[in-house]
Amino acid sequence: SEQGKLFIVSNRLPVNYNDEAPAGQRLKASSGGLVTGLREIHEQSDSLWIGFLGQLQGQDPELESYLKEHNLVPVHIRPKVYDKYYNGYANGTLWPLFHNFLASMSISDGHWKSYVEANHAFAKAIIDLLSPGDRIWVHDYQLMLLPQILREHQNDLKISYFHHIPFPSSEIFRAIPRRSELINGLLGADYIGFHTYDYARHFIQSAKRVAGAKTKINEIMFQDRPIKVAAHPLGVDFKAFAKTKSLGTRILERLRDSDRITFLGIDRLDYTKGLPERLKSFARFLELYPHFVGKARLIQICVPSRQNIGSYNKIRSQVERLVGKINGEFSRSDYIPVEYIFRSIPQEEVIELYQQADVMVVTPLRDGLNLVAKEYVAARTDGDGCLVLSEFAGAASEMGEALQVNPYDIETVAHTLNHALEMPPKERRERMQALRKRMKEHDNINWAQNFMAMWSQHEMDTRVNS
Ligand code: UDP
Repeated sequence: SEQGKLFIVSNRLPVNYNDEAPAGQRLKASSGGLVTGLREIHEQSDSLWIGFLGQLQGQDPELESYLKEHNLVPVHIRPKVYDKYYNGYANGTLWPLFHNFLASMSISDGHWKSYVEANHAFAKAIIDLLSPGDRIWVHDYQLMLLPQILREHQNDLKISYFHHIPFPSSEIFRAIPRRSELINGLLGADYIGFHTYDYARHFIQSAKRVAGAKTKINEIMFQDRPIKVAAHPLGVDFKAFAKTKSLGTRILERLRDSDRITFLGIDRLDYTKGLPERLKSFARFLELYPHFVGKARLIQICVPSRQNIGSYNKIRSQVERLVGKINGEFSRSDYIPVEYIFRSIPQEEVIELYQQADVMVVTPLRDGLNLVAKEYVAARTDGDGCLVLSEFAGAASEMGEALQVNPYDIETVAHTLNHALEMPPKERRERMQALRKRMKEHDNINWAQNFMAMWSQHEMDTRVNS
């Protein structure tokens, strides 16, 4: 059959629209590793990108022409449904469960119904534009039902799916009330990608236990259709992070004023990021190695996130209490141990912070991948710097040269922070060099192209074997 269009489907379109901005400035292309990787594919092929853009009021010619020019198609979902689908089900039920926070999973039939409705709204937007030979690449946990909805619409469609967050062990997964619907939803795809082999294995095991599917090491047989399951860890836009441009921003002004040692943390304020554990580990480090009091500090950037969900307000006050406690205990007249910043900062500033930090501390309790760890390495054009990385971040499977830690083990993390500072420069540089080489070879563009190639390969194999 002839190759048709490619549909890229994600919850959000890769653009921000602000209808209150002056004419000519209402649309801004989104950035980030995922978006730039996919944009390359989108722009090189006959492709449409389907996603939510916000609640659009009336007509705006500027918006219409931007969407048309960039082949973007907005999905319309009513505000109440969107809130229950996105904040309620995706971020209140799926997010905690998939990060092993079983006890934080909220259960609401109303949220589930909106999740179903929103997935159907995405399906309708695609089906309205579908032609023979088209392929559809669905993204992430907001759209787990979409592959099956599309499959039921047209059985010979070519559908792939990428899951950007962890997939938990089947023992955890089977606790979700709608487990069959979710597994069957994904089994509508022909090719399914995860960041790590562990997540792929967990998914295959869940398909076996929950849907009774026949499984092999990297394949599932479902309704006489072979479904390939593979690991494709996302990479970062290496070149963008490897640029050196000093801005002398306010945060960095303070940094430069002193010859202090800097530990850096950059995270969305999320309960999965292990922030209380990190703060406790830093405090324990100051206790165990008191000669660093007054010398070493932690700069912790927390980006506000999902503030309309209760568990996020709870983690925020917990983090801020701990920051206060540590600063109360260890501060001196000219020294604040934890520099806590609760806002988002632009990418150029993030890069400059990466380049100044002696040790990057990335210690999530669970994280699908963690781009920050990879960006830090890309930014270290000086070949120096040290990464402390949780073994529960997906990125750990490709970053063996980092100092890997169990973030729950406060005592050992405290010792590891010291080890990061005491490591001989030669070893530090060798580790960094190995990491940089790997991150450069496996960047975000490479990730998207590789996924597309392996998906096509699977289609060819399937055709040959049937
Ligand atoms: N980031 C940013 N501004 C900030 C803090 C973070 O642009 O103030 C970016 C950071 O560079 C990274 C992303 O946000 O690309 C966070 O991705 P990650 O995979 O680490 O975590 P997620 O937020 O997706 O859970």
